Order: sequence, then C-alpha cells, then structure tokens
Amino acid sequence: MLKELRSIPRPASIRYREGTFQCTGLPEIGGDPCFRRVAGVVKEQLVQDVRAGDPTGGEGKRIVCTKVPDGEPEAYRIRIAPEAISLNAASEKGAYHGLQTLRQWILSEYTGDGFSLPCADIEDHPRFPWRGFMLDTSRHFYTVPFIKRLIDALSLHHINVFHWHLTDDQGWRLPVAAYPLLTEIGSRRLEHRRRGRYSGGFYTEDDIREVVAWAADRQIDVVPEVDLPGHASAILAAYPGLGCSGGPYQVEDRFGIFEDVLCAGNDGLFHLAASVFDTLSGLFPSSYVHIGGDEVRFQRWEACPKCQKRLEETGLKSPKELQSWITVKLTRMLEERGKTAIGWDEVMEDTEQYPLPPSVVVMSWRGTKGGIQASERGHRVIMTPETEGCYLDFRHTEDPEEPGQARLSTVYAAYSMDPVRETSCEAAIMGGQGNLWSELIYAGKIAEYMVFPRICALAEALWTPPEVKDFDDFSRRLPVHQERLDKLGLLQYRGALGKDQ
Ligand SMILES: [Zn+2]
Repeated sequence: MLKELRSIPRPASIRYREGTFQCTGLPEIGGDPCFRRVAGVVKEQLVQDVRAGDPTGGEGKRIVCTKVPDGEPEAYRIRIAPEAISLNAASEKGAYHGLQTLRQWILSEYTGDGFSLPCADIEDHPRFPWRGFMLDTSRHFYTVPFIKRLIDALSLHHINVFHWHLTDDQGWRLPVAAYPLLTEIGSRRLEHRRRGRYSGGFYTEDDIREVVAWAADRQIDVVPEVDLPGHASAILAAYPGLGCSGGPYQVEDRFGIFEDVLCAGNDGLFHLAASVFDTLSGLFPSSYVHIGGDEVRFQRWEACPKCQKRLEETGLKSPKELQSWITVKLTRMLEERGKTAIGWDEVMEDTEQYPLPPSVVVMSWRGTKGGIQASERGHRVIMTPETEGCYLDFRHTEDPEEPGQARLSTVYAAYSMDPVRETSCEAAIMGGQGNLWSELIYAGKIAEYMVFPRICALAEALWTPPEVKDFDDFSRRLPVHQERLDKLGLLQYRGALGKDQ
C-alpha cells in the first residue's frame, strides 16, 4: 500500500492519521444531491480507469460529499477514515478537484479487486484562478475524441481552462452559418508535404457542443479563439473581397507570418466579426473570447486606398495604428454580447486616440514584460511566456531527434514558471497557461508526448501554494504519476527533467 499520498499538483497540506481505508471494488460516491453530477462523472472515470467490471462492488464503502456554506469555490477538504472518506467543498468545482485528487490515488492503488489508502486529512485550494491549456487546432486538425480524452486528463491536474485556437492562416475550424465558405474552403489546405492532397477539417456545431459539455462536466471552461484581423489567410481564401488586394489567396500551407490580413478599410470585416461573435455566443457559455491580435503585418494597409481613407476618418497617422482602432471596435462588439476580450500582448501597442479598453485581458507570450506593463496599466493578465516553459511545442531536450520546434523548454522550466515573480500588481495576474502550437505536431500521439509531463509541472506551478512547491519533491512524485498517465493510455516524455541545464 501507498505509504505516502503522492499526487500532482501537490495539495496544500496532508496530515496522516492512524489507520487505513480499505475498499473492495470501487466506493460509492454520495452525499449532498447538489454534487450528483460531479459524482456521476467521477464514478464513470473510475470505472473506465480501473476497467472494473462491476462498479458497485464496494462493500458499502463510500465517499461522502458535503456542501459547506461558504469558502473558496475551488477549495476542498478530505478526511480519509477507516470507515469512509468524507469530502467537503463549497461548490461543484471544489468537489470535482477533490475527487480528482482521490482519483489519482485510486488509479495508483487499485489492484484487480480493490484498494487501500492511509488515513489522513487533506486541505487544498488553488494559488491562481486561471490554470489554462491552449490547443492549436488550425495548423493541424485534432479530432473530437482526442480533444475529449485530453480534456479529461487535464482536469485530473485541476487545469480549469481549455483555450481552443480555432482559426489561423492554415485552417478555419468554426462553422459560421452566414459565411459557409469559411469551412467549405477555409478548412482545407493543399499539402505540398503530402503530394498535393488536401488536409484539414472543421468542427460541426454538435461537435463543439459535445466538447463544451464534456469540459463543463470536468469543471473546465472552454475559451474560443478566433484571430482577427491577422492570421487570416483561410478567411481570405474563402472571401477574397475582405482583403486589400482582392487576391488571389490560398489557405496557407507554409508556416510563418503573412502580409495578407483583413482590409481595415472594408466594413465587411465587422460584418464578419458580428456573425462570428454571434456564433461563438451561441456555442460557448464562457464569458471570454480570445481575439488574437498578434503578429499583424501592415504592408497591405499602407498600399490600400480603402485603408488610407479609413486613416483619414479615424484621424490616425500610420496604418500600423489602425490595429488599435480595430481592437477597440471588436472589444465593444464582444461587450455588447456580454463577453470579455482576451488578446495576445501585441494588443498593448495601442494609440492615444484608441487606447486598449481596460476590460481587455492581456495574454503575455513574448516573455513577461508585456504582461507586467499591462498589469501596471490596470489590465488583468494571463502569463504564458514562451521563455519560461509555457510553450509545449518546444523540444524537451536539445536532442535533434526530439519532436517539436528547435527551442528548448524543459519540465524544470515549466515547474519554475511563476506568473507573479516580477510584477508589483499581483492581484491583476489571473494565472498562467501552457500552449501547444501545432505547426510540427501533426498527430495526437505526438501532442500527448509534448504535453505530458510538462503540463503536470505547470499545473503544480499554478495550483500549489509556494510554501510547499518543491521541484525535488515533484520529481520524486513524478514517476508514480506517470504510471497513472500510462494507465490512461497517454504517451509521455520520460527523459531528463532539465534541472541542471
Ligand atoms: Zn485595405
């Protein structure tokens, strides 16, 4: 039997007591009726995890969930006693997180007919409210079953945001009824690497509802991202009239940053945005929508008479400044729909006439500088610096045989990420996030290998209180944890963790 209760992220406190909880089969999960949905989801997970034929063989042993009147919504307390396990939480979120911690221990301990756990009191709560993961489904398309399995594994680590990158130059994945060509043309690209075959795909409305409901059952908020006005080749291939030059355009098969963006002088940009935002509002209950705003090139706007006319109307001097005008308009359109905009840190490059609205949440990716500036200017911030272990498409080691971009991002770097390290405005920092860009990650199994176990390290960096965060302790827990992820069928990296690099 496990002498030590090892899980990732590490709980805030574990105090051991005398005795053992022994259970034949799996325990019943009961208690307050308000936790019925969570109990049902976790019960199914456990049955699946241990492949138990008869899930109800638990000799009447129970996990009893009790709702406490107040307290942090994501916090939980567990008491493991010989006769039962009791779990206290103020909300479904807290109950789910607590049950995931128990799920980890049961995954390790379950042998054919049951499991035992040492008696203990566990208290736990998150350090940051935003613990995110981003999947790029544009550069390569990922199937719904893959995404659901990934979301389930993320929730095992108390990750609570799935940021779904749905559009980019290389493919548009979101169905928009008023613009059918976005998916008809924009979701497929000619692949020179695959002898001129088309590749791609898109999600149907039912697919999206299925993912959102699955994630909600796992207490994960799904935040969609649609990039405007840059990273727009797929839009332009479908609707060339929205560009400055009129084309011809193609869904990009190359990777990089392209000069063709949506024309800032064409009101069609906002008609498209209105339809896209209406679609998003109908499909995604999240209060956030990510509008990209990164890596916009301005050459086309400089040469375009319509964009020049727009400059005169807005009183702006250079085409570059039109970006801030667009961001303000898109933010307002989202506000009208009850949504808050998130943008990559480039949205900070605003103008005096069109300052970035204070409600916009800034996602800092080019290091932490943009995020720190944004927090000082009163914005809320999510840290996801490529320089500090948050880019999960970088290689695990310098070894050129490793998959991923030829830049290094170790498990240790992910663990060491601290969203508030350099800021004086801690309260503005909502948390952090790991991002999987998919230019080079062309299959789900490779994606898993890139994500695990770096996301485990990031999850602990974002959840565990700094007083008990300890990399050496994490590296002792990691092998036990990786065996659990093996049982879930996930491919993982298992080489050097990078502390000495
Ligand atoms: Zn133009």
